[in-house]
Amino acid sequence: MQSTSTLSFASRLQSFEDQWPENQTAARQLAALGHVCDRPPLESLEEGSRCIDCGLFIPKQTSVQALEGSLTLIASTPFHNPRCPRLQLRIPLESPLTQRYTLNYSSLVERWERRSHGPQSAREPRAALPQTSGLFSLPTELRLQIYAYILPSLDAVTEIVPLHRDSPRIITKAGLERPARRDKTKANLLLACRSVYLEALDLLYANTTFRFDATRTLYLFLRHVGRAGRRMVRAVDVVCGQREDAVAFALLGACGELGSLTVRLGRPKLLLPNPPLWIVDGVACLLALRGLEEVRFAECSKAARMDLSEEKPDAAVLRRELMRAKGEPSGIREVGGLLDL
Ligand SMILES: [Zn+2]
Repeated sequence: MQSTSTLSFASRLQSFEDQWPENQTAARQLAALGHVCDRPPLESLEEGSRCIDCGLFIPKQTSVQALEGSLTLIASTPFHNPRCPRLQLRIPLESPLTQRYTLNYSSLVERWERRSHGPQSAREPRAALPQTSGLFSLPTELRLQIYAYILPSLDAVTEIVPLHRDSPRIITKAGLERPARRDKTKANLLLACRSVYLEALDLLYANTTFRFDATRTLYLFLRHVGRAGRRMVRAVDVVCGQREDAVAFALLGACGELGSLTVRLGRPKLLLPNPPLWIVDGVACLLALRGLEEVRFAECSKAARMDLSEEKPDAAVLRRELMRAKGEPSGIREVGGLLDL
């Protein structure tokens, strides 16, 4: 029988499936960090999760607050005991950074999410009340046209970057390079009401590929845009191969409409011989994505000449796995908890 410390990401995630139906966002991240769902033997004790290596137990409430609520709580939440081998997998913001963060729309989105259903509520949005505003007597196409006039437009490929190195704040690269032209008031349209918010947000996301310089930035973006934003992300282009890969790809798996992914990996194979744990889990979380229509491979930088490119055999494996239908199991054999690529 397999020992617990070699349980794969898929098996770890599976342990949460029926237990935490309303907190799959937290469950995905916990599974990426090496936790399994754990109910202590005594029924009077709290529900939570446990690291399969160091055994640290975290109450469910604590994880949900840190992984679905305020980003700043991550800094004060230990997911492992000191010296746990899984500390090599990083989750952004483990250092105590407590600044407020902004991205053109995302801080507004976060405010709206908090106002409408709160960070701790995982319930689906409540049924909307009937709209009485004249705006909603217009045909949808016309409303979308109006939003398009008001909202700042995103480029077809919009690069998201950290505001400063190590900062939890993120911004579009265009916004960073032209600070004088940023007009944050335009995005206030998103705060008008929930119906406008959802329609207008969809407009922003529908035709945009979000590009990230690192999986850390991708993770911050996916947290900033909240549940509603994650439901609308369609296309992502990301440089991977870092210690934040596992948690970022685990969270990307919560983006139900994701159709296109461009992978930029600076090594020729997904797994090198005797890979460290952070690479194994990063690849496992990437391979667990499902239902994509398009998977592409691109260079990390001009300098790198060893990238995982279209011709490499692992590219075909990755494409095959990611284009499987949602819920379909992996076609890759596991040997002692390791993927047999
Ligand atoms: Zn641990």
